[in-house]
Amino acid sequence: MKFNTKLLHGATKNGYGQREILPPISQVSAFQYENMEELEKVFAHKSMGYAYTRIGNPTLSAFEQKINALEGGIGAISCSSGMSAISAALLAVCESGDEIIAGKGLYGGTIDLLHDLEKLGIHTVFADVLDEKTISELVTEKTKVVFGEVISNPSLTVLNIAEASEAAHKAGIPLFVDSTTATPYLVTPLRLGADVVIHSTSKYINGGGNSIGGIIVDGGQFVWDFQKHTALSEFLKYGKMAFLLRLRTDLWENLGGCMAPMNAYLSYIGADTLGLRMDRICKNADALAHALAKEADLTVNYLTLSTHPYHAAVKKQLGGLGGGILTFRAGSKKRAFAIINALQYAMIASNIGDLRTLVIHPASTLYLRSGREEMEAAGVYEDTIRVSVGIEDSEDLIADFLQAVKSSRE
Ligand SMILES: *Cc1c(COP(=O)(O)O)cnc(C)c1O
Repeated sequence: MKFNTKLLHGATKNGYGQREILPPISQVSAFQYENMEELEKVFAHKSMGYAYTRIGNPTLSAFEQKINALEGGIGAISCSSGMSAISAALLAVCESGDEIIAGKGLYGGTIDLLHDLEKLGIHTVFADVLDEKTISELVTEKTKVVFGEVISNPSLTVLNIAEASEAAHKAGIPLFVDSTTATPYLVTPLRLGADVVIHSTSKYINGGGNSIGGIIVDGGQFVWDFQKHTALSEFLKYGKMAFLLRLRTDLWENLGGCMAPMNAYLSYIGADTLGLRMDRICKNADALAHALAKEADLTVNYLTLSTHPYHAAVKKQLGGLGGGILTFRAGSKKRAFAIINALQYAMIASNIGDLRTLVIHPASTLYLRSGREEMEAAGVYEDTIRVSVGIEDSEDLIADFLQAVKSSRE
């Protein structure tokens, strides 16, 4: 099956209980049983069934199966947010005293989380690039996971998934990737060697900007060494399923970050059009980036520009597509604000992956609490504007940005 066919038919061949075309919204907290024996079996995992929505719910399962089929995993777990997914995934494999190797220029919330984990005794070593050389140099006995973003937001560096996973695997460590900005439309990281894929589904997967959510997909290929990954030792008997079961029946269940059924439904129907949207968004972003790059007083950062340092990686790993995020530098904060304020269609909002084009000045918002060095490592300067390109008609978008740029010169 190709991408759009798989999106619609990859996971729901037999429909649902009452032959519904879409998963019913099981907006309930609990599920009732005929007798106590049945519920006992469900709790003991001896029969399939739902008991309580924090632990499992059919609408969540439908969404999980859809994304799992797209990514090619052995199972997925939906979460209340992208941050909830990242927290649960990392805490499932790390204990106090352990180390994480992470790429620099990560999403701001993830950097903050990694700082928080220091207080639990989990230390992160940041690498400039997650390549073979750096990973092998930074690995210690304590390293339990390598974590990177497939396309970093908003610095737009591209992780070489095959190289990073090979280097991690050589040291007996799994590679977890945040693929939120790349989406399964650009790349399926599990096929290239990543072990776990995480998405903030709040962004492109939902696509309509109507619900916060996250998902963890397990590739099931990693061979856990239970002497080393002691956080998983109770799950030894499950072999390759150990990570998923550690989450499902233990850590994720106990942290309590389940997705709301209504959000799972909205994200499910949103994801149906992921292919169509990403196709359009990538075309729009490419056209807008090329139009802005012609303006001599702007510096544009977008993956498909021939001047971009990751241009070759985009061709090789992302099918030549650059995704929906572009940034450009306007020369000063004052001018960046003037351009943003003069835009007619782009909404000023702190989000990405909406149908509508969104703009923000990251230095005065998303990076307000970061130091200059951390901010610049993320490709953000005082004069940077971030654009999350939507599905509007590209002629209108380009005309709008060009008039705003022109007016800021006056
Ligand atoms: C938004 C985002 C997150 C966090 O997701 P939430 O759903 O907002 O919690 C994590 N990683 C990336 C790359 C993001 O863009």
